[in-house]
Amino acid sequence: MSLAHRGSLERLDSALGRVCRRPCYNPKVMSSHYDLHAHSTASDGTLSPKQLMQRAHAAGVGVMALTDHDTLDGLDEAAQTAADLGLGFVPGVEVSVTWQHGTVHIVGLGVAPENATLREGLTGLCEFRDWRAQEIGRRLEKAGVHGAFEGAQALSNGRLISRTHFARYLVAQGHAPDMRGVFRRYLVQGKPGHVPGQWAELADAVQWIRAAGGQAVIAHPARYPLNRVKLRRLIDEFAAAGGEGLEVVSGSHSRDDYFKMARHAKDFGLLASAGSDYHGPEQAWIELGRLPELPAGCVPIWRDWPQHLPM
Ligand code: AMP
Ligand code: MN
Ligand code: MN
Ligand code: MN
Repeated sequence: MSLAHRGSLERLDSALGRVCRRPCYNPKVMSSHYDLHAHSTASDGTLSPKQLMQRAHAAGVGVMALTDHDTLDGLDEAAQTAADLGLGFVPGVEVSVTWQHGTVHIVGLGVAPENATLREGLTGLCEFRDWRAQEIGRRLEKAGVHGAFEGAQALSNGRLISRTHFARYLVAQGHAPDMRGVFRRYLVQGKPGHVPGQWAELADAVQWIRAAGGQAVIAHPARYPLNRVKLRRLIDEFAAAGGEGLEVVSGSHSRDDYFKMARHAKDFGLLASAGSDYHGPEQAWIELGRLPELPAGCVPIWRDWPQHLPM
């Protein structure tokens, strides 16, 4: 580990000493006080970790997690900012997993950022990401879309490159009217910029998160193209691997989804999480501090979190 890196982890540890890794469960505090899924410029969000924490605090969020895709790079800055603001902070990550030929996302909450098992697992995923980004660029080039790799790389500011960066570049170049359209035309299975690949195994992702002292949560479970039987198979395998939570309330779930997912959580004995999946102010339909309460009967993922902030 480089000295610079070790210095940043020490700063993070000292910030976490002040804010505590997992804030407390106070049953009087409404569940909408918690937002346990969001992105920064460390992955495919458009706000820096500092700006994200400032916006969460201003929006009235009490406990905020940063869960960037496959990286822990933003946690140091976010923890510092949260500590300065008196905002509860949960260090997290969203791990990309391949399950039955599709991609699913597993959020880790309360992870120790210095943990070697987690870091090594994520490093492997980022190596695949780097190769995949170049391959997406090559495939788009063949399809007549020029300079996409360089464009996406420039938008990523030297951090990891996701399909979101390609999508933003392609929209800016006029290849599609909006983000939805660009994914549909270029970046999903069967389209020119789609690169099949292998992310983490489900059980490995859960194990990395647990090794780092975190709780594993299935992100936005209602969003996968899985029927009820398949989704329940995913949840069953996840629980058997040591996964603890299901994101019942998500910025990408409908009201109907909240109740369906609450039912699945109950059936499998999983804790319920809530997160906006905020990526920045450009997605105007998702805002921080607007999550609804967990449906009645859900056991919140933060139930056993230790005491932390005066609230
Ligand atoms: P990646 O992990 O690089 O494959 O990128 C996945 C990210 O792309 C997700 O986390 C979303 O932020 C974004 N994404 C995926 N599908 C869509 C879509 N249809 N519209 C907008 N953003 C999307
Ligand atoms: Mn994303
Ligand atoms: Mn996701
Ligand atoms: Mn996400």
